Amino acid sequence: QASAPLLAVSGLEAWYGESHVLHGISFDLRPGEVVTLLGRNGAGKTTTLRAIMGLLAKRQGSVIFDGAETITLPSRTIARRGMGYVPEERGIFASLSVEENLMLPPVVKPGGLAVERIYDMFPNLRERRKSQGTKLSGGEQQMLAIARILRTGARTLLLDEPTEGLAPVIVQQIGRTIRELKKSGFNIVLVEQNFHFAATVADRHFVVEQGKVVDMIPNADLEANKAKLHSYLGV
Ligand code: ATP
Repeated sequence: QASAPLLAVSGLEAWYGESHVLHGISFDLRPGEVVTLLGRNGAGKTTTLRAIMGLLAKRQGSVIFDGAETITLPSRTIARRGMGYVPEERGIFASLSVEENLMLPPVVKPGGLAVERIYDMFPNLRERRKSQGTKLSGGEQQMLAIARILRTGARTLLLDEPTEGLAPVIVQQIGRTIRELKKSGFNIVLVEQNFHFAATVADRHFVVEQGKVVDMIPNADLEANKAKLHSYLGV
């Protein structure tokens, strides 16, 4: 894999007010890859995704996406270039139906998936298309949060802990979805704390500690690096 990265993050720093949270995050995502950001609570994984998406007022360093610097751009411009963000809290509107939620995010670029194709990928969302957001299980909400970003034309996805709090059978389903997205040409940065899950979907893993990337482990070497990972993740 010698192709130029689709996303190259280097020396990324970010602040919440006066609080300096990212201290030089560097990693890259090649076309067609799934990479994870692994690390303990509070390491800065969510902040990294938010900074890449342009959602933090104070940030510096470099984020080259699809050949252009985006560090100073507003989030709507970054979205229009094909970056999609699925936050951990999912943002499903309880008073809207599944289908209304699905249609909510604006299409930013040609090339998004058609609604019927999305329902083919998520058959239980098709069954529940008229149900209210409130009636969905945590797993269905997560599926819907991923599903609706696929309509927008974003081809590079930032997914924040999609497996958080979900039953093992649902986690497996999300794993199948991520592998299918990869096959369909989506590029994915995944924040995870569960490295057993991460190992089933990703090509490479970047370890985040105290606002820095401290290690990169190819998925094929994960097993051999288990002890090291345990100490990074404190599990
Ligand atoms: P988690 O899995 O718990 O979300 P994380 O690795 O994603 O962990 P972040 O959420 O990025 O970590 O948090 C990094 C640091 O920034 C933590 O010290 C956290 O307390 C701090 N932080 C996060 N959000 C805010 C905020 N809105 N205001 C101030 N500090 C914040």
